[in-house]
Amino acid sequence: MKRKGLKMRIYELAKQLGLTSHQLIEKLKELNFPVKSHMSSVDAETAEIIKHEIEDLEKRKIEENVVEVEFPLTVKDLAVKLNQKPSQILTYLLKKGFPYNINQSLPKEVATQIAYDFGFNLKEKLSKEEEILKVVKTQDIRKRAPIVTLMGHIDHGKTTLLDYIRKSHITKKETGGITQHIGAYRVSIKKGSITFLDTPGHQTFTAMRARGANITDIVVLVVAADEGVKPQTVEAYDHAKAAKTPIIVAINKIDKPNADVDFTKQQLAKIGLVSEDWGGDTIMCPLSAKTGEGVDELLDLILLQAELMELKADFGRPGVGVVIEAKLSKEKGSLVSVLIQEGRLRVSDILVCGKYWGRIKAIYDDWGNRLKEAYPSYPVEILGLNGVPQPADTFFVVPDENTAKEIVRRKREAEKEIQIPAHTRLEDFYKKMKEEKIKELKIILKADVGGTLEAVETALAKLSTSEVKIDIVHKGVGSINNSDVLLAEVTDAVIVGFKVEVDPVARNSAKQKGIEIRLYQIIYELTDDIRLALEGLLTPQIKKIFVGRAIIKKAFKLSKRTVAGCIVEKGKVVRGAGCELIRGNETIFKGKVVSLKRFKDDVREVTEGQECGIDLGYADIKEEDVIDVFFEEEVKKKL
Ligand code: GDP
Repeated sequence: MKRKGLKMRIYELAKQLGLTSHQLIEKLKELNFPVKSHMSSVDAETAEIIKHEIEDLEKRKIEENVVEVEFPLTVKDLAVKLNQKPSQILTYLLKKGFPYNINQSLPKEVATQIAYDFGFNLKEKLSKEEEILKVVKTQDIRKRAPIVTLMGHIDHGKTTLLDYIRKSHITKKETGGITQHIGAYRVSIKKGSITFLDTPGHQTFTAMRARGANITDIVVLVVAADEGVKPQTVEAYDHAKAAKTPIIVAINKIDKPNADVDFTKQQLAKIGLVSEDWGGDTIMCPLSAKTGEGVDELLDLILLQAELMELKADFGRPGVGVVIEAKLSKEKGSLVSVLIQEGRLRVSDILVCGKYWGRIKAIYDDWGNRLKEAYPSYPVEILGLNGVPQPADTFFVVPDENTAKEIVRRKREAEKEIQIPAHTRLEDFYKKMKEEKIKELKIILKADVGGTLEAVETALAKLSTSEVKIDIVHKGVGSINNSDVLLAEVTDAVIVGFKVEVDPVARNSAKQKGIEIRLYQIIYELTDDIRLALEGLLTPQIKKIFVGRAIIKKAFKLSKRTVAGCIVEKGKVVRGAGCELIRGNETIFKGKVVSLKRFKDDVREVTEGQECGIDLGYADIKEEDVIDVFFEEEVKKKL
């Protein structure tokens, strides 16, 4: 049928669009398409165009009709914002299958969808914290001191070197003062200042990184010239390399008769650190932490490196930084050592720090001197917080007490949400590779002796293809330790052990962090598994332990996800646990209980006979589908 000849009256079109004729005529005016009356007619094609235009117009209007809200947001709050009666929103929700009540908090997606359907564009207000951290830069951008961490094998002289540097660079105002251990100290020489973190070692370094605090600018890798490269030298190097932190090597103990700088350099070259005078690009500085020979050169080299890095900070804005250590003192209360990263910190500033807040009563430097204010790269101890925060917690100055209290309240609320660790598992690698377009499988490899380590490494190297590469982030001889787990955490690597054990501490922390450790006794089993993982064919090494079963009573479709309204038929449903969605006799989805709600609250588990809302992060769910929930337990491979 030829559509062109067909005519349509305006009142008919209005009806189709769910408008009155008058409303349509008004809208057509806005679209520069005036019509005389409801009896005017347009042809079918024009009617289609008008329909599209009007839908577009509506969309554009909604786009512009922004309402700003903060979460948590109850039905009541939203109603006020949208200028609607709460009952209208409740009815709307009920129609979609959500029996909400008026004081119940709405998930962001749901609130956004409701707002849209009521003609509003919902925007989340920046949190106060975000607003504060977003402060525009002031004009006061200046060079800041580099922050340095010493690393290296035990007994190679880190502590001695730190002590020497500190004692030998006391300025006038500091003489007579007593050094305070506040987790870091600052030395000033003619060419500039340097801040040293005084808990040396790669474990602390990586633990801080794992908690989001990447504070070290330069790593000084200390290697004793009488012993050369040792296992922890390699570990430390790999940790610094994984963090992409520039490294300067201090070849220590050159005063010792058996010191051999050249031999040490040779060993360093073998692990990939080639000295500049040997044509490489690693700065190396022979020195003695005992006699002090070469130490000034090291400081110069650090400042030179810092110069290259153009380390700068805004000295004018309200202060922001990181906690290095914190303790409770009987007399003074909470004593917190912080490192300022941006801005200035002043006595009587109001601060949010981790889960706590307070007005700064006093600021001390690392000599116990009281300061009125402190600047970027200054390590200082502050008094006045209402609790003891954790190392790596951030702090920032806020405008007033109320803001501080509000931010702390929200932080504590957010903390209740348990995060499910999501690290690479060998079985999932292929999927992740396809989805996230990663091209490397990162591995931390430990073996019993040097010979087997090399053999495994060679075998693994052969598995790399043009599509995917195996990247050995760290390799070493000996049992799997906590440093391996920390490194796996920050680099998202899988730990592979060949004929080695796992230290109890490492086993525990790997379990907590969701890091996979795979142990093998036979080389081809190891390489087979890795090959299968690269090809996406590795079968899980996992035993399922049945936890419970829920039946879907209703599927609630939201804009971005679908939530299953369920009743727990057997056992219990646990957030974060593994699950399978079963329809008839078929498993149609395998995943996790992403979120679990009982009425309005997020809950950890729901038991038999109770109703709950389950989000599997999967949209195709139907009434009467079954959700089986289970825990996963790794099955040890037989020897
Ligand atoms: P750390 O474990 O790396 O912190 O090592 P320490 O600083 O505790 O040093 C271990 C041992 O080596 C101590 O007995 C130090 O006195 C000694 N030592 C450190 N540096 C030197 C040095 O340059 N020369 C000599 N002869 N001994 C040193």
